[in-house]
Amino acid sequence: MLSAAGFSCLACRASEGRFVLEKAGLELRRCRSCGLVQQHPVPGAEALSAMYEQEAHYAGQLVRGEAEVLAREREVVAQLAARGASGPFLDVGAGAGLLLRAARERGFSGIALELSAPSAELIARTLDVAVHQAAIEEAPLAPESVGVVAFSHSLEHLGDPVGARVRRARELLRPGGLVHVAVPNWRAAKRVLAGRHTPWIYAHHISYFERRTLAALLRRAGFEPLSFTVGRFVGLDYPFILACLRRFRLERSLRRFLSMGERPLEELIADGVRIACPVWRYRAVVGCARLFLRLWPERLCCALGRGEELRATAVSAGAR
Ligand SMILES: [Zn+2]
Repeated sequence: MLSAAGFSCLACRASEGRFVLEKAGLELRRCRSCGLVQQHPVPGAEALSAMYEQEAHYAGQLVRGEAEVLAREREVVAQLAARGASGPFLDVGAGAGLLLRAARERGFSGIALELSAPSAELIARTLDVAVHQAAIEEAPLAPESVGVVAFSHSLEHLGDPVGARVRRARELLRPGGLVHVAVPNWRAAKRVLAGRHTPWIYAHHISYFERRTLAALLRRAGFEPLSFTVGRFVGLDYPFILACLRRFRLERSLRRFLSMGERPLEELIADGVRIACPVWRYRAVVGCARLFLRLWPERLCCALGRGEELRATAVSAGAR
């Protein structure tokens, strides 16, 4: 299970990676040289684009918990504005467009890049911004024409995170322009607790960053990190509860308690749950889950650098 043939670190190109975990055919390894955690093997460009073409529900999923996401995005935009950011605000992988909505509220002009057709259409319909259904390296934008480039939950999806896309971001930024990056935090307490069952360990996420590896990656791509913050993900996190139940092998007991048979636990957090057991049992389980999430000290975790979202602001190296 040690270093395997063919490992190549996406950040530093070192050829030795240590086995970290395996989940449903997905294997993660940690680079022995720079510490980046990444999938092994890394899916090819074709496999990656096929994944997204099938992803019709992406926008819809992201809109769940909209108010909380928007609150987080407003915080991000406020932090960038406090550093003197100016528009246009380019969002790479704009998803449901909430970061751009927050940017528009602050008076930035906006440009959305989004590969998923349903998401791109949603943004075009709801926001007064330019929308391109294109990758950043193909987008019809002039060099030094934007003030902010945001990679909000998109860097971890890239098969080549220091490659053409991030370099293009440097070209597009005006001197002194800022790059904003948000990624899931590998050092999050929730990730440590839920282990390989962590909901955001899945095929679409190629790289898994912590502060040190994100800083190294930004420097390699020609940016100088200005600040890092650790924040919380959105709202009540029932998938995290399911992950913990699996990690601590409580899945079968719960299924029996709720008379679920072999139905997947995910049904419990879907709309229109079918309940075969006495209702008090279901209510008791939901009550315990809510209590657990309410007591979960995410704010403390964030203060200790162990919150679930890692954010970085950086500037083109040499432009400080
Ligand atoms: Zn490396």
